[in-house]
Order: sequence, then structure tokens, then C-alpha cells
Amino acid sequence: MSIKVAYWPGCVSRGFTPELHGSMAAVAPKLDIELIQLDRANCCGAGVIAEHNQELVDSLNARTFALAQGVEGAVGMMNICSTCQGAQSECQERLDADTAYRQHINEHLEPEGLAYEKNSAWWNKNFLWLLVEDIGIDALRERVVRPLTGLRVAPFYGCYIVRPQSRLGYDERPERDLYLEQVIEAIGATPVDYAGKHKCCGFPLITMNRTTSLRQAGRHIADAIDADADCMVTPCPLCHLNLDLQQPDAAKYVERDLGLPVLHFPQLVGLALGIEPKELGMNKHVVKTGDVQRKIAELAAA
Ligand code: SF4
Ligand code: SF4
Repeated sequence: MSIKVAYWPGCVSRGFTPELHGSMAAVAPKLDIELIQLDRANCCGAGVIAEHNQELVDSLNARTFALAQGVEGAVGMMNICSTCQGAQSECQERLDADTAYRQHINEHLEPEGLAYEKNSAWWNKNFLWLLVEDIGIDALRERVVRPLTGLRVAPFYGCYIVRPQSRLGYDERPERDLYLEQVIEAIGATPVDYAGKHKCCGFPLITMNRTTSLRQAGRHIADAIDADADCMVTPCPLCHLNLDLQQPDAAKYVERDLGLPVLHFPQLVGLALGIEPKELGMNKHVVKTGDVQRKIAELAAA
């Protein structure tokens, strides 16, 4: 059975990391997910607008939610960015908590004929959550055509989908901070345990304190290397910027060689579903993914 979702790719996935958006588009049909892209939706504000103007950011995200609720036949809205998830969940919590406030925000949307309706059955989920909760680990396992046996993968969640738990649905879904490991196992790979998997990558600090930011990123990467990881995987394109794009610089701050490939979550799933690395944009990364690709090619040949 196919799942139709209103799809919010976020801006980083199309700007800085287009291989994320492209790999999601390649993976969706393999999982019978129909993506209806919200082309006229807004930037979520990434927590930055909220610091200066809460009413503005709530209006922007209420507008995106209203557009998503208008997609006929969609079961909910899907994002591919931990940070979008965190920023949007924060707005949704405020909008749902107060009817008068929600009505006030909806007045800003009236000129476009839009309104966000509170509805406990409507959701906005990261692809990781949707894959585990709405498609299911068993259904994923059945679709694997290239088990990634022997590939050691270090999960990196991005803090916005693990904290704060009360806002992110952990009361009903207490295993959300274990889903990456569950998916890694389901596709035949081995999850690698290391200290940083639920921690901050340091990205928000990068413009204010580059040393602390890149030491943080470098330490997580080094810990994953010391735990024998072949690669890291993250459902957050902003984490990807600090862990991949900035990795050569992070190596200088932690004073050691790094060189650990960092995959976007749909890329890892796509490999197991039989999609070719090139189609998943794996040649677009700063840290070359050749070793991962070679290991996968050897698996196919074995
Ligand atoms: S978190 Fe960033 S990538 Fe995601 S929509 Fe917001 S601003 Fe764009
Ligand atoms: S881990 Fe980094 S980029 Fe990712 S959500 Fe946290 S601070 Fe943002």
C-alpha cells in the first residue's frame, strides 16, 4: 500500500546538500511513498527567527502546515531535516496549546485563504520516523535487495529530533532515539556505538566560535573512527555540513587525521534498496565515499 505525504524538503537539502533531496526522490518510489512537494512553503526559521519574533515564525510554519493539510489524500507532512523537525514541532506545540493564539495567527493567513487546523490525527514527521512507524522495520527488511552486511555505520541523530522529548512525541514513541540503529540493523549493516550519537554537532556555534564548534564535530567523528566505523549516517543536513563539509578543518582542531564518510539517511537506505551510489549523489561529498562504495561493491560480488 502506498503512502502519500505532503513533502517539506527544507532549504538546505536543496541548496547546500542537493544530494539529500535527490536521494530522497530516488528512495521514495522504492518504498511506495508518494511525495507531493510543498513548493510554496516557507523556511521554518531554524530556531533563529523564533529568538527574535515568535509570532512571525509561528505564522510562517502555520502557513506551511496549512498548505500541507490542503494536500488531498496525504496522511501527514514529511521532512528530511532534524532541525526543521525541531523548529516546526516547537511552533506546532504553541499553535496547538492555545485556541485564541491559533486563531490570531490564522488571521495572517486569511489573505491566501489558508488556516492551520489543530488535529490530533495530523502529523509532521522526519523520514526516519515515517520509515519506522508508518512503513515498518519488517516491511523495510523485505525490500532490501542489497544487504549491507559487514558495513559498520555510526548513527548521528541531530539534537533536534531527540530533545526535548516531551515536545517530540517520545511519550507515545519512546524508541525514537533508537530508530537509526533499528534501521541500520534491518538493512544488514552493523550499528556502531560511540559517545556522540545523540549530542550536538556544534553547527549553531560555527559563526560565533569556530574552534569550539569544529572541536565538537571533530571529537564525534574521531570517536566513531575509534569505534571502527566505516561511515556515519545522519537525518540532518545541517549536521552534515559540520560533519562532512567542515571535516577537513575539524581534523585540524582535534589534531588528528579523520576522513570518515558521512551519509545522508536516505542515501544509506537507498544503497540497501539497490540504488546505485552515483544516483544517490555519493560522489558529491567533501569526504570521499569511495571506501564505502568499494565495500558495497565487494558485498555484491561475494
Ligand atoms: S531547518 Fe534549516 S533547512 Fe530546515 S527549513 Fe529550516 S531553515 Fe531550512
Ligand atoms: S546536531 Fe547540530 S545541526 Fe544537527 S540539529 Fe543539532 S545542532 Fe543542529
